[in-house]
Amino acid sequence: MCGIVGYIGNKQAGPILLEGLSKLEYRGYDSAGIAVRDGENEAEVVKSLGRLANLEEKTDSGKAIPGNCGIGHTRWATHGAPSQSNAHPHVSGNCTGSGSGKVESLVVGVHNGIIENYQELKAKMERHGYAFYSQTDTEVLIKLVDYYYKKYKVGPIDALAKTIVRVRGSYALAVMFKDYPGKIFVARKDSPMIIGKNDDEVFLASDVPAILNHTRQVYYIGNLEMAELSAGEVTFYNLDGDTVQKKLTTIEWDAEAAEKGGYEHFMMKEIHEQPKVAMDTLNKYVKEVDGKNVIDLSEAGLNADVLKSISQIYIAACGSAWHVGVQAQYVIEELADIPVRVELASEFRYRKNSLDKDALLVVISQSGETADTLAALRMAKEKGIKTLAIVNVVGSSIAREADYCMYTLAGPEISVATTKAYTCQLLCTYLLAVELGKARNVVDVYDYYIDEILELPKKIESTLENNERIQWFASKYASAQDIFFIGRGIDYAICLEGSLKLKEISYIHSEAYAAGELKHGTISLIEEGTLVIGSLTQSDLYEKTLSNMMECKSRGAYLFGLTSAGKYDVEDSVNFAVYVPKTDEHFSGVLGIIPLQLLSYYISLSKGLDVDKPRNLAKSVTVE
Ligand code: GLU
Repeated sequence: MCGIVGYIGNKQAGPILLEGLSKLEYRGYDSAGIAVRDGENEAEVVKSLGRLANLEEKTDSGKAIPGNCGIGHTRWATHGAPSQSNAHPHVSGNCTGSGSGKVESLVVGVHNGIIENYQELKAKMERHGYAFYSQTDTEVLIKLVDYYYKKYKVGPIDALAKTIVRVRGSYALAVMFKDYPGKIFVARKDSPMIIGKNDDEVFLASDVPAILNHTRQVYYIGNLEMAELSAGEVTFYNLDGDTVQKKLTTIEWDAEAAEKGGYEHFMMKEIHEQPKVAMDTLNKYVKEVDGKNVIDLSEAGLNADVLKSISQIYIAACGSAWHVGVQAQYVIEELADIPVRVELASEFRYRKNSLDKDALLVVISQSGETADTLAALRMAKEKGIKTLAIVNVVGSSIAREADYCMYTLAGPEISVATTKAYTCQLLCTYLLAVELGKARNVVDVYDYYIDEILELPKKIESTLENNERIQWFASKYASAQDIFFIGRGIDYAICLEGSLKLKEISYIHSEAYAAGELKHGTISLIEEGTLVIGSLTQSDLYEKTLSNMMECKSRGAYLFGLTSAGKYDVEDSVNFAVYVPKTDEHFSGVLGIIPLQLLSYYISLSKGLDVDKPRNLAKSVTVE
């Protein structure tokens, strides 16, 4: 998920690797490391926790480790907390320390991505006598390459091909083999990787900014492809080991555009990452057993016995994470038939709560450091209540302190306004709802729910297509003074998040109202031309909300209707209609929010505002 760099040429690799990593810092990371080889010598590995400056200090900006061939990595932990031993590069040799120094190893490598079946592979490798010094999925991957290399004695490319066939997940992998000095071998699936070239040098990176100072000539390596890199030379292979011809492409982007993957802002980049991170998150908790997909929360520490023992659920969170909680309340109560109470963490922590000792407190936080949410968690723990965290940052305080932890695999989120982390949090609550329902024997269409959930990433992707209409609409409403969002049930939860997105980055006053509440106050604010956005994804509430929208229209409102394709034709009733793909209605929130994220983005853009860093806001709120 984070950064990879590599270099082979006639210069010293260390300083080039560190410079490349510094250009990838914007992607967020928790630790960093490099491995450099000097001719035939064993590669030397140096890693450090925290800022890249620590690694620079340890290596005298890379100069302290001589050699012309090397790989480097900035890590965003997905498996195993941020620590020196979990930092990359990883080595295949058996060692007791953290895998640093000159460790006798056949293979040393770095990896971006996630190996989903790492537990099963780790057990296999242990049976073959491999010992592990880290908790990462990556160390398993490196040792698997070593295993196939030795077993079949077929050379690096075939060893990589055999590894690829065996692993599930995503990877941008770069390895050096002891027997092949001056060479780097790479493989890729679903994680970005580019290879830059000069006459006598080759550069490897997960992202363009890392190499822009050296070359603009790059190759793109395809999914399930491998490559052999040596000074000034690159050969590509497919899974059969046949060579693949590729053309060099010239990068036209400037450095800033490159950081954002060609998007104008991180927010837009992150909005578009949603299909991928949604799938990553689902793959972590949905496993195939005997040809059937089942939810497996064992990695979060949860099993059917724990789930069965829960009497009720409290959810505490702040901001968008609280909106996830509001939505989860509807979904969990319906699917698992268990009482759910959702609260703002800042309120929950100070209330004289009368809490049921058999309850489960679910806390939700992207950073895992949100002060109020952490305090709510601690309060519940003091009272002996079980706690489950839904968190994005591995090893964060909330993740460490909660009894159970579901990680969202959203990767680093740079834009202050959350999009992809929110989506992954929602998906975790869906999985929890279905699994809880199963444990409590109240779900009779378990397979259907899982199938519907697994379809969501694709549907998010198609919702992201054709956004020109929303862009056009946004420019029309960029000067609005007030915008109202109305909906009922899950649609109300969609409205809460849609309205917050808009406020955060466009500075337009907006309110999200449960549609039935409108005539208890807000309707007095509707004037000629006021924009009212109605969310209409729930069949049983559709007519009710539409009536509330019509009440607004009669008072001059301009209506924006958000609904599911193929279900309702709202064109006759509203002024502007947006459709999202059809899904089981419990899960429509994850689709309904996408057009609203885009709307907020484009309004902010039309107003010329700082989309990624809205005024007065912080990404992670670590004060109360
Ligand atoms: N899954 C790997 C780990 O946790 C790689 C993470 C990354 O892409 O930085 O170490």
